[in-house]
Amino acid sequence: MSKQKKFILQENEIPTQWYNILADMPNKPLPPIHPGTHQPLGWEDLAHIFPTECCKQELDTEHAWIDIPEEVLEKYKYYRATPLVRAYALEKAIGTPAHIYFKNESTNPLGSHKINSALAQCYYAKQEGTTNVTTETGAGQWGAALSYAASVFGLEAAVYQVKISMLQKPYRSSIMRTFGAAVTGSPSMSTRAGKDIITKNPNHMGSLGTAISEAVELATTTPNCKYTLGSVLNHVALHQSIIGLEAEKQMAMAGEYPDTVIACFGGGSNFGGIAFPFMRHNILDGKKTEFIAAEPESCPKLTRGKFEYDFGDEAGYTPLLPMFTIGHNFKPANIHAGGLRYHGAGMIVSQLIKDNMMHGVDIPQLETFEAGILFARTEGIIPAPESSHAIAATIREAKKCIETGEEKVILFNLSGHGLIDMTAYDQYINGDLMNYQVSDEEIAKNLKDVPQV
Ligand SMILES: *Cc1c(COP(=O)(O)O)cnc(C)c1O
Repeated sequence: MSKQKKFILQENEIPTQWYNILADMPNKPLPPIHPGTHQPLGWEDLAHIFPTECCKQELDTEHAWIDIPEEVLEKYKYYRATPLVRAYALEKAIGTPAHIYFKNESTNPLGSHKINSALAQCYYAKQEGTTNVTTETGAGQWGAALSYAASVFGLEAAVYQVKISMLQKPYRSSIMRTFGAAVTGSPSMSTRAGKDIITKNPNHMGSLGTAISEAVELATTTPNCKYTLGSVLNHVALHQSIIGLEAEKQMAMAGEYPDTVIACFGGGSNFGGIAFPFMRHNILDGKKTEFIAAEPESCPKLTRGKFEYDFGDEAGYTPLLPMFTIGHNFKPANIHAGGLRYHGAGMIVSQLIKDNMMHGVDIPQLETFEAGILFARTEGIIPAPESSHAIAATIREAKKCIETGEEKVILFNLSGHGLIDMTAYDQYINGDLMNYQVSDEEIAKNLKDVPQV
């Protein structure tokens, strides 16, 4: 009999609640604070920007389990449960005794995990009488997920896409438009923030910072319009917990429990999604699973950042958040092709790192692509360059097991596929990419701009 490779849940086995690790954390994160007064913010202070229910979830340290609304669950069932797969071919290619499993979040039509939170945020917005949603997007995965979710719930979506990404990755704009979203390159002349930026620098090619500023301005100046965010915030990790909760059931079907859980790390949503449901057993039941977040060497906030109150965006419009940061003005080198460019880590993960409950690793760019290509050639899926950071970290752990002979059980999250990122693969195959390590001076210089609290 051949070995079982895929572990599939039936529709009625999909979890019906999300897991909120805030309720179980031994030390809660520090509160977000107002940049002017430095006073802690309550959910009421955020509700003019985000859907109210998301604001409440953001600061909920009480309820470990939150019901997934019926209508969101129904939409989840279009593409969930996602498969858990034993990566036998990858194990063989590495020659490791480790058992490698991956949770495949690339199987939905949008191609990444981001849809899990987009559906929830649009549902709550709709419930609250909102008619329009807006957001920023860089490479475009979040914008694509939000555009789809908005169309599902009958909302109008306006997406500000970083101008340079819009030019370099035209297909994601096409995807957003196909779902009916209005896509604007940022900086644009459609907002005051955009006009100011263009007046100062007519050739500005945009950044997540400019796009956030424009989307927040649109949300706060348009009636019935809310802003949404695809990562970093606690409520986003909450919605993503569906990944780990399913994986927990599927690992049980495989008769195993992970010794190590690995995910790539941009702002922390797919990491939190797969890791937190397992981490609850470390907190509550004395399990000893190791949790590894894989970030690019060229944007190393987890391993080389400082724990500080910093802005969530480049322009300094957001509340101050307690996080590991390399400074809100940080820009990864142009040569960096693998995504995960955000300067800070979410509040929950930052606290967990302080408490030694998880740790980060840095992956050089070339190792990332090498890992992605090995995965493609063994498992037949071309991973998103972001996800390849998790694959590279998994391969490192699996190689350690060759020396020790340990049959470690390693679970990683495949956060998305790379079929719209083939330009980056071409660059790698043509030899046009290189490694880039940030200098200590550069990090220190950026950290100087972090506000004093
Ligand atoms: C956005 C994205 C990430 C990074 O975001 P996190 O919030 O850290 O998960 C990783 N992988 C894919 C495929 C993405 O689209």
